[in-house]
Amino acid sequence: SSRALHPEDIVVKTAHSQIDHQSLTLMAGPCSVESREHVFLMAEAAKKAGATVLRGGAFKPRTSPYSFQGLGEEGLKYLREAADAFDLDVVTEVMDESHVDLVGQYTDIFQIGARNMQNFSLLKAVGQTRIPVMLKRGMSATIDDILNAAEYIAAGGNQQIILVERGIRTFDNKYTRNTLDVGAVPVLRSLSPYPVMVDPSHAAGYESLVGPEALAGVAAGAAGLIIEIHDHPDQAFSDGPQALLPKQLEDLANQARAIHSII
Ligand code: PEP
Ligand code: MN
Repeated sequence: SSRALHPEDIVVKTAHSQIDHQSLTLMAGPCSVESREHVFLMAEAAKKAGATVLRGGAFKPRTSPYSFQGLGEEGLKYLREAADAFDLDVVTEVMDESHVDLVGQYTDIFQIGARNMQNFSLLKAVGQTRIPVMLKRGMSATIDDILNAAEYIAAGGNQQIILVERGIRTFDNKYTRNTLDVGAVPVLRSLSPYPVMVDPSHAAGYESLVGPEALAGVAAGAAGLIIEIHDHPDQAFSDGPQALLPKQLEDLANQARAIHSII
């Protein structure tokens, strides 16, 4: 699926979204699905900011096994209900090959997380489905690594793939959680036909940096943004420090659309 074989951009289509570089797609929601009530609140906020996709993790790849691991299938149900209530699509992480069927019953887009970018049996399994896949760049993955990971999915016949730059590990992670590789956006666009999005939340790690990194991503040509939100970030089950308040998301989304319209 290199550019040579695929000169035309691939457009990823779901019920409520068309993900390509013509328009700016917004995906937003909490890091984790925390409760039915909470995810409904977050879905309403995402919708208000112009999102067409609701994010939320039900199976969480936590650094520590003692951290909140997600609500599992119960979380998938709440996420689906909340998305349907606000006419949104769902994107949620599938962590394990054995969960592809289960997660596929609830989601519109599979998220492959950074830690699983080279889980080849998982990539092959989602490649066998016809559900779009949002593939996040591993924190130590090169451009060729992510392109080859995408190829594992495409080789199964599923070319509905979105690539996501979400920050990579560099030598200093004291003030930024990861380093947003803005240059990866035009590079990936030039080498592959897939839409390329930016996740400023996991790149930044801190709420105050999410806006600048999001706008930099859009200026670099991103097809969309995936952003974590929370109404009480200090009480979030995961990734609270990088969560935007609903109002912050709305303001940022307006700025991002303004930049997208002039590039
Ligand atoms: C997430 O989206 O909450 C997540 C864990 O992302 P990443 O795989 O990029 O760390
Ligand atoms: Mn997160």
